[in-house]
Parts: sequence; structure tokens; C-alpha cells
Amino acid sequence: MKKRIIIIGGGYIGAELAKSLDDAAEVTLIEQNSHFVHAPAMIRAVVDPDILDRALIPYDGLLKHGRLIQDRAQSVSETGVTLASGEQLEADFIVVATGSSNAVPFKSNGADIETLRAANARVHALLSTASTVAIVGAGAVGTELAGEIAHGYPDKKVHLISSEPQLFANFPEKLGRKLAAKLEHAGVVLVLGARAENLQSLTEPYSGTLILSTGQSLAADLIFPVIGSKATSTLLEALPEAKLGRNQRIKTDVWMRPSTYDNVFAAGDVAEMGDAMTIVATSRQLTWLKKTLTALVNGQKIEDLKPYTPFQKAPILVPLGPVKGNSFLSLFVAGDFLTSLLKGKDLFLSKYNKLLGKG
Ligand SMILES: Cc1cc2nc3c(=O)[nH]c(=O)nc-3n(C[C@H](O)[C@H](O)[C@H](O)COP(=O)(O)OP(=O)(O)OC[C@H]3O[C@@H](n4cnc5c(N)ncnc54)[C@H](O)[C@@H]3O)c2cc1C
Repeated sequence: MKKRIIIIGGGYIGAELAKSLDDAAEVTLIEQNSHFVHAPAMIRAVVDPDILDRALIPYDGLLKHGRLIQDRAQSVSETGVTLASGEQLEADFIVVATGSSNAVPFKSNGADIETLRAANARVHALLSTASTVAIVGAGAVGTELAGEIAHGYPDKKVHLISSEPQLFANFPEKLGRKLAAKLEHAGVVLVLGARAENLQSLTEPYSGTLILSTGQSLAADLIFPVIGSKATSTLLEALPEAKLGRNQRIKTDVWMRPSTYDNVFAAGDVAEMGDAMTIVATSRQLTWLKKTLTALVNGQKIEDLKPYTPFQKAPILVPLGPVKGNSFLSLFVAGDFLTSLLKGKDLFLSKYNKLLGKG
């Protein structure tokens, strides 16, 4: 009899892990949505909604043997998972990968895919007629959004606002400096070291006037709040001795376990184990999870396996539209050519469509 693994959440961790364990175990993937949401392409989709057809990918081609249940997991115990429908599922191992929410229209945030499509259409329409755009938050999402709008609509006045004095302060200085120069060359106004004091929404784009901590005020036809992700951790918070970290993430031990339950794991954005909330981080965690869960279903003890160690110097790829951008590739900062080749041109759409069995 194969061991039963339940994975909750079909994002970057859940979808790929489910597929990779499909032969080794009896896999059940619980995902509330009908489609995988490829977040990096959701930024470009604000400018070019046609890309949604490949950025929102149905789950029906993901698993050959395992079960995909479209429902919301409501609670987790040592023996299984209870669904919103009331159904109870038993498992030998459980992986909670419920990810995070972000601003509209980048992630589904618990809503269905049609609601996400409608939000994209609404924001795209507002962007099409806007003359002045303000983006609050210059992390990767805000910076990429500024680059995409400047590429797609060179006539719009885009302001990128950050409370930090420089872009990408946690990476080699060259990365932020090069990106800032490219954005300014494309006409984007960088407003650094300034905090927006009166954001009317932390999640929904809107039209209004921003008051900045520098005393400036800035009127914009469209203001994007892009101030980071919040982990979807309610399921884990209820587990014995679970501890909340930053951004609502739940802390884990070195075996990715968030509680006293030995067989319940957590990974990706929902879990705090020293990695950032990125797909890049999930790729490292996936390697460990595949290896560890395969060993566990084959009867090995977790104490005999290697613990997980987070990224020391994680890479980051920051396209500014399909052609330009910069990347930190752990050893050096790359320019337009490599950034476009590795990410900007295709945004990994081919990789994730292939993973989900769509050509
Ligand atoms: C606009 C944007 C662009 C980004 N671009 C990049 C990038 O280019 N590179 C990069 O490295 N990172 C990027 N990120 C970060 C990246 O998207 C996250 O790190 C990644 O999504 C985390 O993957 P995950 O599997 O942990 O969770 P998620 O991708 O958030 O997936 C979680 C899944 O769980 C499901 N779920 C949640 N709760 C339940 C429940 N109770 N029951 C059933 N299902 C549930 C959700 O519907 C969702 O499908 C970006 C983020 C955003 C917002």
C-alpha cells in the first residue's frame, strides 16, 4: 500500500510537489481554485490582458494518478484534513502550502478565477485611460510594474514611490543602481525615501492624492498599493505550538514542521524558515521536500535525513518589460540580455504551462 500524502494549496510548492510525488505516493492535492495563477505574468497582464490565457492555467492536466480536489481546506490534524464541504480525508503526511495574498489584480486572494479575471479587466481599463500612475512600494512587484507600464504605455507619467533610500537595498548596490537608471531613462519618476501616509487601500488600486512623509502631495489617476505579501496562515495558526513570524508567516523547525505534529510540514510563502517569499525560494524548498518525502514514504526516519538550509544569497530576476531589466544571479549582476532571456521575454509561462500539462 502506498503512503497517503495530502498537499494543501496548488501554488508553486503544491503543484510541483504533487506532480513530482505522483508515482511515489497516493497524492491528494487540495486547491480552492480551478486554475493555477502564475504571479509573475499577472504584472504584465495589467498592461496586456491577452497574456491571461497562459497565466491562468487549469489544473486538469497536472496529475496522472493522484486526486485533485477543488475545495478549501478548513482544518488540519495529525491524521488528516477537513474540507469546507465537510468531507474528511486521512493522510500519512500533510504539506500545507497555502501561500500568501497580495494586491488586486495580482493574486486571487481566495476569490475564484472569474473574479480575478474581472479585477484584471477593471484595472486594465483604469490604466488605459490614466495619464498619471503612482506605484507605492518598490519591491520586485512594484519595480516590475513600473517597467511594464513604461514599456507598454511610454506616454503615461509613472511615479515609483519607496520608503527605502535606494532600490533593492538587500542586494548588491549595482542591481538597484542599474534598475533605477533604466527606469529613469524610460521616464519613470523615482520618489525614494518617502512613505505614503494616507493609502486609502492596501490591496485595491484607486484614484486619488497621496500625501508623502516628505510633505509632498501627488495626485494620480491610478494608485497601485504594492506593499508586499501576507501569508495565508489560518490553518497553521490553529496547530499545537505554532508560532507566528513576520507577515503572518508561521515559523518551522529545520524539518519544515510548524507544530508538534511530526508528519505535518509547511513550505513556501506561508512558512518562515529563513527564505524570502519568492518562487526562487520555493524552488530550493521543493528539492528538499521531494527528497525528504520520498525517503519518508519509503520508511526512512526524518532524523536520519538532512535538515533544510535556506538560501544564503538568493538570486533575483527583475525584468522591466520584455526587453530590459537586471538580475542578481548569486555571483554577478546581469543586464538586459540575460534578464530578457531568462525571464523578461517569456516570464516562465512555458515552464508552468508544461508543468500543468498544457503543451
Ligand atoms: C505579482 C507577483 C509577482 C511575483 N513574481 C515573482 C517572481 O517573478 N519571482 C519570484 O521568485 N517570486 C515572485 N513572486 C512571489 C511568488 O508569487 C510567491 O513566492 C509564490 O506564489 C509562493 O508560492 P506558494 O506555493 O507558497 O503559494 P501560492 O503561490 O500563493 O499558492 C498558494 C495556493 O494555495 C491555495 N490555498 C490557500 N488556502 C487554501 C485552502 N485553505 N484550501 C485550499 N487551497 C488553498 C491558493 O488558492 C493558492 O493557489 C511574485 C508575487 C506576486 C504577487
